[in-house]
Amino acid sequence: MSENERRALPDYCFHTHTFRCGHAAMSPDEEYVEDALRNGYRVLGFSDHAFLPGIRERGMRGDYSLLDDYVSSILALRKKYEGKIQILLGFEAEYSPEMEGYYRGLLQEKGFDYLILGQHETFRNGMPWHYWGRRPEESAEAYCLDLLRGMRSGLYSYVAHPDLYLLWEGWGPHAESVCRRICSLSLELGLPLEINMGRSRIGGWEEGKDLSHVEYPCPEFWRIAGEMGVSAFLGVDAHSPWDLHKGPFGHMRKLVEDTGVRLLGALDFQPSSARW
Ligand SMILES: [Zn+2]
Ligand SMILES: [Zn+2]
Repeated sequence: MSENERRALPDYCFHTHTFRCGHAAMSPDEEYVEDALRNGYRVLGFSDHAFLPGIRERGMRGDYSLLDDYVSSILALRKKYEGKIQILLGFEAEYSPEMEGYYRGLLQEKGFDYLILGQHETFRNGMPWHYWGRRPEESAEAYCLDLLRGMRSGLYSYVAHPDLYLLWEGWGPHAESVCRRICSLSLELGLPLEINMGRSRIGGWEEGKDLSHVEYPCPEFWRIAGEMGVSAFLGVDAHSPWDLHKGPFGHMRKLVEDTGVRLLGALDFQPSSARW
């Protein structure tokens, strides 16, 4: 058993934000790399909330004008730490047919290694379109349909917090049907899901914190995923360098054991180029 396994830490993180999004720690990008190195990570993928041309959402994502700075900062770190840790350039990006061309350009021309699908909202007619604020079932259903389309787009390396819709809808027959549709498509496409740690840290993290009311990861969702044979990455969803070593890692390991979900390792990760 490796040192990281003893401490329940993964040796990869593909879900890492930066100060540019407006709701993460103000730490420089390099502090994430230093923390990852100190804690035995082999791969660190940066996946800030996608900066989008023509769309401004202060406090949610960085402005599009920050794109070149983000790309050059991460690529410079990759070079500087070569041989010590593998650094990848990505975005956590909501799917919308309107964004497909832009996303393909990031992957094919801007040097991005990958995108992860984090469907917090979508875009219609050039504007953000929110799932919340509707009837619970309606919010979850709209989320599900967009998520399935995003999964089929071929743009993404995995699905971040697929159970995010439990923010808008409690567990019940409809939530279960959404879960089964997402898991079936994950299996059909061989596209992994992610057990996400972000929500568990809201309001701060301390050992022994009660996580029973946290909406995701949702045990019922993951129990079905486990029964169906779905594979998942652990997603730290780091919004500060210390999230890489401080957080509910033990809780997540236990969830994996209890539900039987197959937890993937760093080598299972496929950057976009490998998927085309
Ligand atoms: Zn965030
Ligand atoms: Zn997210």
